[in-house]
Amino acid sequence: MSETPQFPTGSVLGYPRIGPRRELKKAIEAFWAGRSTADEVEATAAQLRRRTRDRLVELGLPKDVPAIPSAFSFYDHVLDASAVVGAIPARFADLVDEDGALDLAGYSTVARGRGDDLPLEMTKWFDTNYHYLVPEIGPETTFRYAGTRPVAEFVEALSEGVLTRPVIVGPVTYLALAKATEGAPADFSPIDRLHDLLPVYADLLQDLAAAGATWVQLEEPALVSESIDVPVERLLAATVEAYRALSTDLTRPQRPAIFVAAPYGDLGAALPVLAATDVEAIGLDLVKGAAPAEAVPGLETKTLVAGVIDGHNIWRADLDAKLQVLEQLEVLGAAAVTVGTSTSLFHVPHDTADEPDLDPALKSWLAFADQKVAEVVTLAEGLSEGREAIHEQLLEASDAVASRRGAPGVVRPEVRERTGSLTEDAFHRGDFDDRKIAQAARLNLPPLPTTTIGSFPQTPEIRKARAAHGKGELTDEQYVEEMKAEIRRVVELQERIGLDVLVHGEPERNDMVQYFAENLDGFAVTRNGWVQSYGSRCTRPSILWGDVSRPKPITVDWTTYTQSLTDKPVKGMLTGPVTILAWSFVRDDQPLRETANQVGLALRDEIADLEAAGIAVIQVDEPALRELLPLREADHADYLDWSVSSFRLSTSGVRPDTQIHTHLCYSEFGQIMGAIDGLDADVTSIEAARSKMEILGDIAAAGYPRAVGPGVYDIHSPRVPSEEEVTELLTDAVKAIAVDQLWVNPDCGLKTRRYEEVTPSLERILAATRTVRATL
Ligand code: GLN
Ligand code: ZN
Repeated sequence: MSETPQFPTGSVLGYPRIGPRRELKKAIEAFWAGRSTADEVEATAAQLRRRTRDRLVELGLPKDVPAIPSAFSFYDHVLDASAVVGAIPARFADLVDEDGALDLAGYSTVARGRGDDLPLEMTKWFDTNYHYLVPEIGPETTFRYAGTRPVAEFVEALSEGVLTRPVIVGPVTYLALAKATEGAPADFSPIDRLHDLLPVYADLLQDLAAAGATWVQLEEPALVSESIDVPVERLLAATVEAYRALSTDLTRPQRPAIFVAAPYGDLGAALPVLAATDVEAIGLDLVKGAAPAEAVPGLETKTLVAGVIDGHNIWRADLDAKLQVLEQLEVLGAAAVTVGTSTSLFHVPHDTADEPDLDPALKSWLAFADQKVAEVVTLAEGLSEGREAIHEQLLEASDAVASRRGAPGVVRPEVRERTGSLTEDAFHRGDFDDRKIAQAARLNLPPLPTTTIGSFPQTPEIRKARAAHGKGELTDEQYVEEMKAEIRRVVELQERIGLDVLVHGEPERNDMVQYFAENLDGFAVTRNGWVQSYGSRCTRPSILWGDVSRPKPITVDWTTYTQSLTDKPVKGMLTGPVTILAWSFVRDDQPLRETANQVGLALRDEIADLEAAGIAVIQVDEPALRELLPLREADHADYLDWSVSSFRLSTSGVRPDTQIHTHLCYSEFGQIMGAIDGLDADVTSIEAARSKMEILGDIAAAGYPRAVGPGVYDIHSPRVPSEEEVTELLTDAVKAIAVDQLWVNPDCGLKTRRYEEVTPSLERILAATRTVRATL
């Protein structure tokens, strides 16, 4: 490139894409349900993209330099990259047209599966609660420039007068996150295919430039992580190869300037490596990561996009402190420093102004996506015009930070005293061997005991009742009666199907974290604060702003009512401290350990009350344990210590004959096997259906002594497994691990599924279990 086109002084890495009222979710789900056409969904999506651009312009981002990212997705941005490079697994080959492209229906099918064709595996996106679809790459995968949506969406914006910056997952991260196709040689790694993939990216860049794009944003978060399968040296070598190729060697007649963004952590050794290539801009996450203290060779020709505004949490920034960070970046010797967000803003809700129920003081401490855009715009102005230009805004921001620090409820002495006086024995239960004997005697369960993870389908009737209760159309008593009727139905169903340990089905919970947040002190909940979790699924994270305590029992009435309906043991169901933290926006003014212990103690009180009420089995879900694992190994030990401790604090107060279960939503155990052992739960259920029980071998090899329930039914897909398939999974499972360690359950809660899927699935699971029991 002869002359680098102008980069905006302030920009954001990305923006929420689901819509302020989840418009995209509603549109795409209507399409899946056959209630609307692809054209209708496309029209809604185009409208949403226009709204985003208009809003960002209104908030102060320019139209004529590419400050506004073009980063829409119908489902997932990693799946989008697979569509762009034509890497669609062979089982879906019939969905692809002669140019290698997928239409919206085909794209949806790859994401969601059909019949026996399993969807792409889904897994956590770095240390967030977003999930992406794992590309499947083998030695034979053919890459071709097949998906032209990034170009089409760029052109769409340009035709309305907005010069956007197309965003796509970078080639290194794309392959680093991929898994090898089944049948690939054992020594094959998707990153081996980098050389073949790069020309496709070069084609895309050429096409974008031809359409008028001046900058493209390639997302390379893999470079900040040590938690992916590719060794660091390999990753760095791939980075050199990729960005030399894209910036120099492979350049087609033209390309846009390349901005490599590295959200979610510190670039570390990858920064000098990237700086030595000819890319034109590098983005640093200066919230999770830090900038080096001295000049980085190569940066003198590049723009540094300083991600000082936190894209992953909702606190209003101390703009003065951020401006200082920006000013100090001068030592790095970059050609220019511009202001950015640490990550895309799709991890935070749209707008605090859309929260009429939030306490005004709390609201004044918060910044959602729109407020963050304004912060970026302000800082960019401060950086280029000087502090005086933004004097007012700096003062306002400092006032907000100070008001938060001194507000009632933020620090409560009685809570601090309790966490401060904890002793070691609050974190320990007795010997597992003794517990095992005591629990077997009390529970008297058959081999391969069957259970579910807790929730049953949230039916339209349940949602209607909750909404009516919220609006005051149902009294508390009427609402409780409706939920009890639901519990009776769920208990009857479980008894008819023959499950061994029953659940109440969680009908009263809108969300497994929000429900507890609503019943604990120190939390606030939002009305419209939706954040994408995967595909069309969104969650509404609670805001943990103050010291936490439990004003009164939360689940005891529901659980004892359920137990009164059946002779089978009923499992009490709680969300664990780590997950409550992970799926809330947590305070950033104290160590997470303190916050986690406060939540742990509140749960410990709840568990004591459940036990005293005669509940023999209590599950404390920690699906987020793996998700919060820091991306850098140096940070693991501290994290694992506080997270495991808080779980143990919540569960260690019980008698030996009370069985503690936990549920973890994923199957990547390797890195945290020690932590799972540390949780000391009597039974741990995990996801295993999509990965076909592979994990059990590792668990057995590690000599893990306690029980596990590998999921035999993938609840992330509408597919109903066949009885033979479940029998096969269970047959594999009993070969891999001792029978008395094995439970049978679905992968996760059933709340997102419909009874039409759940009932036959559970019936088949029970039939398969009986078959395998007979062989023991
Ligand atoms: N008990 C919860 C449920 O069944 C667990 C969900 C989860 O781990 N994500 O819905
Ligand atoms: Zn789960």
